[in-house]
Amino acid sequence: MKIRGRFAPTPSGDPHPGTIQTALLAWLSARAQGGRFILRIEDVDGARVVPGAAERMIETLDWLGLDWDEGPGVDGPHGPYVQSRRTGFYQEMLDRLINRGLAYPCACSRSFLAQLNLPRDPEDGALIYPGICRAPDPERFRELELRGRPPAWRFRVEPETAAFHDLIQGPVSQEVSRGAGDFVLKRGDGYFAYQLAVTADDIAMGVTEVVRGTDLLFNTPRQLLLLRALGGKAPVYAHMPLLLGPDGEKLAKRHQAPSIWKLKQQGASPGGITGWIASGLGLCEPGARLKPAELLKSWDIRRIPARPRVADMGELLRACQT
Ligand code: GLU
Repeated sequence: MKIRGRFAPTPSGDPHPGTIQTALLAWLSARAQGGRFILRIEDVDGARVVPGAAERMIETLDWLGLDWDEGPGVDGPHGPYVQSRRTGFYQEMLDRLINRGLAYPCACSRSFLAQLNLPRDPEDGALIYPGICRAPDPERFRELELRGRPPAWRFRVEPETAAFHDLIQGPVSQEVSRGAGDFVLKRGDGYFAYQLAVTADDIAMGVTEVVRGTDLLFNTPRQLLLLRALGGKAPVYAHMPLLLGPDGEKLAKRHQAPSIWKLKQQGASPGGITGWIASGLGLCEPGARLKPAELLKSWDIRRIPARPRVADMGELLRACQT
């Protein structure tokens, strides 16, 4: 089987060290197996998109030497590779689910659900939808129509356990009906939900392996149910350890995590940045400066630690010096 990996960033801000670590690992895994690498821009949630962020990501990957065979600027058989240009396809996938009774309209707004004090999934904090609109209240749908708002659409989740073996995190399982409930496929504001877009695209683009951060680990059981419903074959999953800030939370802007694009603009060494990420994962000696391709020879995904680590920002800034 031909390996097809992908990196699927959301252009909601500048590329930061955690995102670039994921890109590097996804690239290494695909390339080390002689596979193809896809870059997909996940701008399906227009409200989160920051103008110019996709371009900055593309420039940064290019500068680091993380190339792609299909994606923006490189046409391929499964394009377009930008989600905002694929909404007709997502609607087709949603219609397929609706026609089979696997999706239903929902009149519950976020504010309506917030008042209900619903339980949240301990794994990822997602609100557990209790299936209110499985038995639709015509009055609430009429109100929605009067306000000129279309309903949201939810996936009908039956009680069962979705399980998979993650290459890094080991066995993972979840009963999605308890962990998330009937999750959203299309929102009331007309945007397609991440779960539908990412699953439909992974199927359509023939993705055979998904390498991404552990912050998305508990999205996978939901995506497995959708994959099956849409007739797709489950890819192999490898959820990579996160980079943390000094407070032990996922590294983010509020930790003053530097933008890798800005470091590039300031004349940083691309090899130093790759070396900093790779040495943090034990893939090379600290202080090494190298191109991603130089890591291919010794690449073994089993060497990647499962646990997250606190990012050493001082060391990153030293590694950047040319
Ligand atoms: N677009 C998602 C993000 O940037 C990642 C999606 C995925 O890798 O499945 O968080």
